[in-house]
Amino acid sequence: FFPGIFIISGLNYMLSPGVTINRDPVRGRHVACTQPLAMGKIIIMEKPFAHSLDAKFTTNMCQTCLCSTDSIIPCTSCNLVAYCCSACQEADRSNHGKECQSIRQVRPHNPTQTLRLMLRVLRRMDMEVQKGDPAVGVAFGELVSHMDQIDVGTKEKYAQMAKLVRDCKLRGEDVAAFDDLKGIISMFCTFEANNFNILNEDMQVVGAGVYLMCTALNHSCTPNAVVTFHGPMLQVRAAKNIHPGEEVTISYIDLAASTDARQQELLPRYFFECRCRLCQRGTDGRQRDMEMGLLLDVVNPMLKEVQMQLDDLRRCILGGHTLRKAEDYSAARVKYAEALGLQKGKLGPHHIFTFETFEGLVQCCIELEDFGEALRHCATSLPLYEWMYSVAGAHPLVGLQYYTHAKLAWLAGEEGSAWASKQRALQILLHTHGPEHALVQGLRAFGPQEGRSPD
Ligand SMILES: [Zn+2]
Ligand SMILES: [Zn+2]
Ligand SMILES: [Zn+2]
Repeated sequence: FFPGIFIISGLNYMLSPGVTINRDPVRGRHVACTQPLAMGKIIIMEKPFAHSLDAKFTTNMCQTCLCSTDSIIPCTSCNLVAYCCSACQEADRSNHGKECQSIRQVRPHNPTQTLRLMLRVLRRMDMEVQKGDPAVGVAFGELVSHMDQIDVGTKEKYAQMAKLVRDCKLRGEDVAAFDDLKGIISMFCTFEANNFNILNEDMQVVGAGVYLMCTALNHSCTPNAVVTFHGPMLQVRAAKNIHPGEEVTISYIDLAASTDARQQELLPRYFFECRCRLCQRGTDGRQRDMEMGLLLDVVNPMLKEVQMQLDDLRRCILGGHTLRKAEDYSAARVKYAEALGLQKGKLGPHHIFTFETFEGLVQCCIELEDFGEALRHCATSLPLYEWMYSVAGAHPLVGLQYYTHAKLAWLAGEEGSAWASKQRALQILLHTHGPEHALVQGLRAFGPQEGRSPD
């Protein structure tokens, strides 16, 4: 299944043959390849050094394998973690034992997800040191904290959190790192720039993890690789055909954004200015930015008036986003519908506002179980998704949108278009997630099957 596996104890990762982690003055630590990697091929697999679940999921998702089941077994001592079976509980015992005592020690406070992750990291590091394994220490040494670039307010917040971490140290526990407040603050800074959000099948963030090897993957707005999760296991696959000598890159951010917006998201968190092909604003970068902001409005030649309309539209969409986040889907839908009216006939087909409006409308209509309208909007959104993420090769969000469309079309009895969207979703998700992933297996089993005559 996966030739060329090697695992370094304590790190738990595998590189595909021909893939190496290198360092040079220009790119720093980075992932390179010496053999061609076909689209869909696994490049790296890595188990987290430590991970913790978002508070929303701690009681309904297994801490170890991240599955959701109705028969979840909570830890009866703390009720703050849960497991799907006794094997998963046993597998986490070395991590949760002391964590559980810490949680009870600081009651009535509940340690946040980031705090729990820090506890797990400090204790696991200590365990590896006890074992005499230098690999983990070396790997942590490679991570950049950007400590000197982080603003005073954020550092102050981390200092408060560091004190809470110290409070979690158990009586008689001999882990010096708990008392090194400066070290903990620096580690929080490292978390911010290096940790991966763990996503479920719907690309929803369920937790965060420390993946020491995958931090070597650099960012590009035209990445050639994609990250997905199999439980807590991180998998990197080729999203395009990668040629020998090319650097393997992923995107740290959502690529449905203009160059300015992408730069504004990258800089404060990762402290670098992206110099990818799109960000250097060559012909295709400029073309993409222009299309994302293309105005078709000819009724109002006065630029100021156009600008005012755009401001109204932006406010309307942002209002929709805010309401959606607060799970007020019917009010959000009204805002998005209003935005749709405002932009009618005025924006180019790939305008970022149009993309955001449809993205919002589809989700709101599904939440409100208005599947007919969801289907209509979803169908309109498909070419937008294809265009928006084409810079990234095979992209999970495009695959998922086709999957959603297939489900909605199937529900509406439109067997032919359900079949077509299922095939396109499969084509994409096989590359991004691979055939073993539960998402792909669910998609295969769903709705229209081969051998059935499409209408
Ligand atoms: Zn489990
Ligand atoms: Zn517990
Ligand atoms: Zn870029």
